[in-house]
Amino acid sequence: MVGEGRRGRGGGTRVRLFPQARFLDGFGEPVTVELSVPAGSCGAGPVDARFETVVPIGKVGPYGPGTDRFGRPSWSGPPWRGRRALPARPDRFGHFDGIAVGDPAFLAAHAYGCARFALDVLEGYCGPVPWHFGRSLPRLEVLCQTGYDNAHCGWGFLELGWNLKGRGLSHPYALNMDTVAHEMGHLVLFSLMGHADGLFLNGEYGGFHEAMADLAAFLVAAHLDPVVDAVLRATRGNLYIANELSRIVELAPADQIRNLGHGVKMDQFRGGWSDEHDLSLPLAGAFFDILVEVYQTLLVDAGLLSPEIVEIARNVDAMLAFEHPVDAAFAAAYAAEPRPFRAAFASARDVLGHLLARLWRRLDPVGLTYAEVARQAVLVERGLTGGRFERAVRTSFAWRSIGVIAPGPRVRDPLRPRRRALCDRAVRPPLQPA
Ligand SMILES: [Zn+2]
Repeated sequence: MVGEGRRGRGGGTRVRLFPQARFLDGFGEPVTVELSVPAGSCGAGPVDARFETVVPIGKVGPYGPGTDRFGRPSWSGPPWRGRRALPARPDRFGHFDGIAVGDPAFLAAHAYGCARFALDVLEGYCGPVPWHFGRSLPRLEVLCQTGYDNAHCGWGFLELGWNLKGRGLSHPYALNMDTVAHEMGHLVLFSLMGHADGLFLNGEYGGFHEAMADLAAFLVAAHLDPVVDAVLRATRGNLYIANELSRIVELAPADQIRNLGHGVKMDQFRGGWSDEHDLSLPLAGAFFDILVEVYQTLLVDAGLLSPEIVEIARNVDAMLAFEHPVDAAFAAAYAAEPRPFRAAFASARDVLGHLLARLWRRLDPVGLTYAEVARQAVLVERGLTGGRFERAVRTSFAWRSIGVIAPGPRVRDPLRPRRRALCDRAVRPPLQPA
């Protein structure tokens, strides 16, 4: 976790990051994070061997497909050749943690820090992840810009606009760790699984991509001590209670775009679906359930909770009847000794991280289905832990009806134009220049 293992390694470049959106209670101050990049090797921008951060001046609209001045189809992409704002500069020791939050250069330093930290966390599970566009461009261009009301990634770029009116509080996505980590999740998937423009015509592949990007953001947040501590304190160790960790991309204190701790099942997509972000919910929820199941199993194995209490906690109907005794049991055990809860959480997080990383390297993106994801997850878990958590994997997918009910056809949603999702363009074809 940040503040422990990473700080102890020494020698990395330091930045300051808001662990969650800064308008949320308890997250108004940035924390110092040490990146894997050796201090002194990161230049003004920031720029390192994998990333180049840019605050463009005069950039209108996002990169991607468009039309030229003659109305013909065209493509725009990195590198940005126009004017740019002054870069964030490292101090004489090579760190960026001395830049004040109010300094205009903080935005670029923060965006870079989030993207690099997310890659560090995900490579910790996946091993080295070369860019999928690496043969064309050496670095990912991270842009912090104003003329765009969304965030997306593609061939060599990660563009972070502003969340404007109508979707929570207005703020730059460059300051939103979850947003950056979600986009980094997409980029890692492109690298590990390969990609082709036509793949997203398959809704289950699109839903899978969004679910995995949300889970990537979750894994990144779960490496930030202030977030984990706040969650365990607020829930007193019972992770099924809605909390910061299961929310992805909070745009206002009570307005998160997606929440992993929910009860969405495949049943509601039987008749059709219109948005892969919605379709991602049962799959992302199933993997979050696996994490909670593993965590609770570890608590029982450590003698911190009785199997009977955990059995009630994993059953929604039973929880409604026995909420108070279950809460009291968690609260008493957590109050007596919180450290084992943190250790169990870190272990469960890493089981999930390695499970996902192996899946990403193993799954064939062509014709991908949720049922195949569930089938492969069981096999991967056996290879990872010898089947210790196989029941958690099987029951989590079964509860969401994954592998039992396939989604119906894509249907048109009349509300869709007014209900634009975050990361809407991220996975839209084409992903690379024609
Ligand atoms: Zn996305």
